[in-house]
Amino acid sequence: MVGYQPKRANKVVACLVCWTCHGRMGPNHFTLKDGCAVCGFCGTKNPLGNLRKMSIQEVTAPSEILVCFTRAGTAAHALHVDCKTVLGPWIEFQSAETLEKALRYLGATEEQIEEHRNQMKRCGQGSSNIRLLPNRKNLLRINYGKL
Ligand SMILES: [Zn+2]
Repeated sequence: MVGYQPKRANKVVACLVCWTCHGRMGPNHFTLKDGCAVCGFCGTKNPLGNLRKMSIQEVTAPSEILVCFTRAGTAAHALHVDCKTVLGPWIEFQSAETLEKALRYLGATEEQIEEHRNQMKRCGQGSSNIRLLPNRKNLLRINYGKL
């Protein structure tokens, strides 16, 4: 990458990766207080060491992921849209409804939820394309570095 020049200058900002909810957030979503960075999603106090320098784009632009699910929607994990790179571990969900709520929270569109539901009804397992909005609790424990 030596000599590589990005086409667009990308602003770098301090972002928080919360050690409780694993959410990743830009400066507008956490507050600095008593020498701590307070997570805007779950309210946990993080040490300042949890702050990371990231491009503003990383915490403002949505991504597209695949969510693989099985056991009637009670287990799911995130996969890169390349269908190969595993983004997170298998997570247990109480029910198909809980999983669906999580997908909505993460940013799935109405159409995506509809498709997900159909697939769930047909066979109780599969993989759904999901939009992933920035500044959400990391319910799927996604390794953001692999997005
Ligand atoms: Zn948090």
